[in-house]
Amino acid sequence: MSDDRLTHAEWTAAIEDGDLLGQRCPDCGHETAAPKAACARCGSREVETVSLPTEGVVHTATTIAVAPEGFEGPYRVAVIDLGEARVLARLDGDAGIGDAVELAGAVDDRDEPAPLFS
Ligand SMILES: [Zn+2]
Repeated sequence: MSDDRLTHAEWTAAIEDGDLLGQRCPDCGHETAAPKAACARCGSREVETVSLPTEGVVHTATTIAVAPEGFEGPYRVAVIDLGEARVLARLDGDAGIGDAVELAGAVDDRDEPAPLFS
């Protein structure tokens, strides 16, 4: 299964195509919304690449008022519940905790593209 491992480049390319990839652990069922070398819950290295829903619910959201150097601020970040998985994303608009949001594209932050939900 190691050849099937999701890379950060594949994950980023998928976001730009409007797809959200994640990983599912066949041993315990844990899902993550970003490339990881092993299951965060049980440590299994047999994680599979899966397609995640592109619609979710805001779990937490916060506004970054003072942006790190090189970023434009203020901007909002949120943790989005996508069923079993959660993804850290940029949030466009004023959606709050518990609001339904959907994948709207990608934000290109220098070397760290992030999914954008609105
Ligand atoms: Zn696991």
